[in-house]
Amino acid sequence: MKKIAVLGSTGSIGVNTLNVIRKLGKGYKIIGISAQKNVDLLIKQIIEFRPTIVALGNEAAARELKKRLHRFRPLPRIYEGTSGLIELAQNPASNFVVSALVGAAGLLPTLAAIEAGKDIALANKEILVMAGGLITTAAKKMGTKILPLDSEHSAIFQCLRAEKVDNVRRLILTASGGPFYKYKKSQLEKVTVEETLHHPTWQMGKKITVDSATLMNKGLEAIEATHLFGIDISRIDILIHPQATVHSLVELVDGSILAQLAIADMRIPIQFALTYPERYVSKLQGLKLEKIARLSFHKPNLNNFPCLDLALRAGKIGGTMPVVLSAADEIAVGAFLEKKIRFIDIPKIIESVMAEHKVNKRPSLKKILEINQWTRNRTREKIECS
Ligand code: NDP
Repeated sequence: MKKIAVLGSTGSIGVNTLNVIRKLGKGYKIIGISAQKNVDLLIKQIIEFRPTIVALGNEAAARELKKRLHRFRPLPRIYEGTSGLIELAQNPASNFVVSALVGAAGLLPTLAAIEAGKDIALANKEILVMAGGLITTAAKKMGTKILPLDSEHSAIFQCLRAEKVDNVRRLILTASGGPFYKYKKSQLEKVTVEETLHHPTWQMGKKITVDSATLMNKGLEAIEATHLFGIDISRIDILIHPQATVHSLVELVDGSILAQLAIADMRIPIQFALTYPERYVSKLQGLKLEKIARLSFHKPNLNNFPCLDLALRAGKIGGTMPVVLSAADEIAVGAFLEKKIRFIDIPKIIESVMAEHKVNKRPSLKKILEINQWTRNRTREKIECS
């Protein structure tokens, strides 16, 4: 029996995960769920899945949940704040954790789950960007698996099932390109929050939707791939593939290329991670290959999308630079969503914070958390002054 805790059950990945679990039925039980503040949806999930543990990042929301649930039986234990998320992640009632919080908030709970010996299905890419070395070392030490949920990494993971990593020449991550990949620089100066949130292919949370439009998402994914597959960033290429049909590719040393293709639906990689190493039947439609007129691939324009360039640079520098990249991006994207800065200011602000940072090559967890906090404060100061 897979006894599952879902960190971020009210988000886009969380809701899709619960959809998959509802369909899988027997053999899969939800033990715990969490949200930041979406109490309405959390209550619906509690009524349907009857978890024994619930955590809320936001303390006021936790108080509201307790009030609204006081007659509900059986009442789940309700925890709050970061310590509550950690309690949910490490509680021995579950044996599998879906890590689907957004940004740095997922780092401590996910590490706690690994240290408690649980397998992880990982969507929360920012935490691998910040602390990939610590996370993969902890997983190795505990003998736990980190199964990728990101469609690109799931594609690579599936391609590599029958191959040795030594046989890999390069990984090719595909990117749909987001809503603006055909835009000129002058057009990017004027894009609005509403236009940015209108992704052509995927329905996702707000932060990753903005990251997809700036192409920061693909840069974060390149760094994520270095940790998941042990491949240097110099051997990871990125290609824009607007049809979002080939989810990523692996080129082998003899020139062969393996790829995974499917419709653009996150329930496919989520189901694979939940059922791994088995592959279960799914009612989702297959690809109608005969209806696909064209699959195109081209190089991204780093000049128009400097966030990708910054991420690749941070990945090459390594150490604590990806921490600064990711934390500055989180704050800058938040400010863009609040309409405090323009779309084109996002990379300028991230670059200026990165320029002030002195890299620590082998940071401890304490150092990573310190630098995460410093970056958040510094980025906010720059936004206030801009
Ligand atoms: P969402 O914004 O849709 O959901 C985030 C979830 O985390 C929600 O449950 C939210 O609660 C909760 N949350 C947010 N901030 C905090 C916090 N500080 N403390 C506790 N809980 C918090 O994000 P997505 O589901 O889109 O993305 C999740 C992760 O998965 C990201 O790292 C993203 O990059 C990655 N990913 C997402 C994909 C997608 O298709 N969406 C595809 C591949 C990767 P609440 O609802 O209450 O705000």
